[in-house]
Amino acid sequence: MARPILLAVDDDVNVLEAVVQDLRRNYGAEYRVMRAASGQAALDTLAQVKAREEPVALLLSDQRMPGISGVEFLERSRELYADAKRVLLTAYADTEAAIQAINSARIHYYLNKPWDPPEEKLYPVLSDLLDDWKADYRPVFEGLRVIGHRWSPRDHSVRSFLSSNHVPYRWFDIASEDAVKLLEERKLDSERLPLVVFPDGSSLADPEPETLAAKVGLSVKATQEFYDLIVVGAGPAGLAGAVYGASEGLRTLVVEPEAPGGQAGTTSKIENYLGFPAGITGADMGRRAHIQATRFGAEFLTQRAAGLRVDGQYRFILLADGREVSSHVVLLAPGVQYRKLDIPGGDRFTGRGIYYGAALVEAASCKGEDVIVVGGANSAGQAALHFASYAKSVVMLVRGKGLEATMSKYLIDEIDRTSNVQVRPGTEVLEAFGEDHLERIKLRGPQGEWETCAGSLFVFIGAAPRTDWLPASILRDEKGFVLAGPDLRVDGKLATEWKENREPYLLESSVPGVFVAGDVRHGSVKRVASAVGEGSIAVQFVHQYLAGF
Ligand SMILES: Cc1cc2nc3c(=O)[nH]c(=O)nc-3n(C[C@H](O)[C@H](O)[C@H](O)COP(=O)(O)OP(=O)(O)OC[C@H]3O[C@@H](n4cnc5c(N)ncnc54)[C@H](O)[C@@H]3O)c2cc1C
Repeated sequence: MARPILLAVDDDVNVLEAVVQDLRRNYGAEYRVMRAASGQAALDTLAQVKAREEPVALLLSDQRMPGISGVEFLERSRELYADAKRVLLTAYADTEAAIQAINSARIHYYLNKPWDPPEEKLYPVLSDLLDDWKADYRPVFEGLRVIGHRWSPRDHSVRSFLSSNHVPYRWFDIASEDAVKLLEERKLDSERLPLVVFPDGSSLADPEPETLAAKVGLSVKATQEFYDLIVVGAGPAGLAGAVYGASEGLRTLVVEPEAPGGQAGTTSKIENYLGFPAGITGADMGRRAHIQATRFGAEFLTQRAAGLRVDGQYRFILLADGREVSSHVVLLAPGVQYRKLDIPGGDRFTGRGIYYGAALVEAASCKGEDVIVVGGANSAGQAALHFASYAKSVVMLVRGKGLEATMSKYLIDEIDRTSNVQVRPGTEVLEAFGEDHLERIKLRGPQGEWETCAGSLFVFIGAAPRTDWLPASILRDEKGFVLAGPDLRVDGKLATEWKENREPYLLESSVPGVFVAGDVRHGSVKRVASAVGEGSIAVQFVHQYLAGF
């Protein structure tokens, strides 16, 4: 496989030489370092390597160059290598322009010149970006293959599971020549799809997530009988609980059926999380937090919690495969799930053209298509912008009068700037039609009712808590959100279910030793930062609870 390319661009030969030397010294073994003395030369180089299908990992460009400026080059480079990391080299005087370029050219970072010593000022930034690039990069493929129907919900969930767990795979439509050839070569039966074919020749037909997890080497069985803390869910809240719990010496087990990252993992980019001026994808955040928690000793199981029971001071979590794990304390952080579109045809076409929160997995397969996004909050805006890089056009159907009341201003501004995204206020979906998959939808808008063609409809209209597996002893509000701490008081009196001679801790549920954090908690603020905050605060109360033993 060709080594991925790092391309340095500067019109000053001495500076260019210095950058190239610094890059070679640290990254030469793994990457090929190339150079260009102008923005145009750099674009020509990119076109040539693109023709040879060589991977490009990083573009590091000076800002002030005659002809094409650094920002313009980085912006135009996206047409050829949208996934390469883009870094601008600037003088202090250009810092303001560089910050603007984070939005306009979607640059990932800017570095002030000079960058000496590189060990402090250059390598940490570039290594971080290259780690992110590597996590998403799929080299020429020699591994796992999935054969299925594009419009099948099962196919969609298997692909979604693999990509969210960073398991590289190639997908073949059952009707394609490649699929037919593979089935013949391996003498495989296509009766039950999707079919997952492994490099060793074995295959799994329509596998459950736990079976697939075990086969691709994800952990499904706990290594210990007993833990101090079991965290249910590895979204931002659960991951924060795991990082703080494990780092403070608690034997911590995290139970999560999907890849770490939670809902944030499905969002295209979180742009308002503190400390990430160029935004961070939820998947990256999940991957980083997972590594961090594991480094502190937390253990992760690819399993779904299916029940919770209490026996004296012990708490037991029943897993979907029938096993049980036990602990002193449980932190519930299972988040919420997307609210479904309640229209005729809505259920029938779920996973067959109607998708919930699936932006990242489906975006690439909508290349050149017309896509419809339903919803007017931040999640819908992020998805629309993400699709805009792949699809021909994106139409946002918004029930309200506009986006101002429901969406952050920075997203509204970016939608305004994106020419292939169109917003239709005051419009709702009434019905979905089609044969095998979604083909048309009926809409109602200010101009009346009409039907339109629709191959893919992505729905972001709110969410409900994932708490139906919990016992009745965990008190919830009328919508199913878990009550905790002061919310266990009604008219000033503690709920009768609370039997302890002490007040419940903040974030403690009606069952002592079972804490709750993040979106699933009654009254929570539905934001990544709040979920992270609650997950970490909960651990303080876990210590206080354990101190009472
Ligand atoms: C499309 C979209 C865009 C968003 N954009 C932003 C943004 O830009 N900025 C921002 O601050 N917030 C954003 N949010 C909100 C943010 O993602 C959530 O507030 C945050 O993810 C909540 O974290 P959490 O850990 O409570 O729950 P979640 O992120 O929902 O994570 C819960 C986890 O628990 C797992 N789980 C569920 N049930 C079980 C079970 N029974 N057993 C084991 N595990 C289980 C799930 O698989 C999931 O991984 C966005 C949300 C969406 C949907």
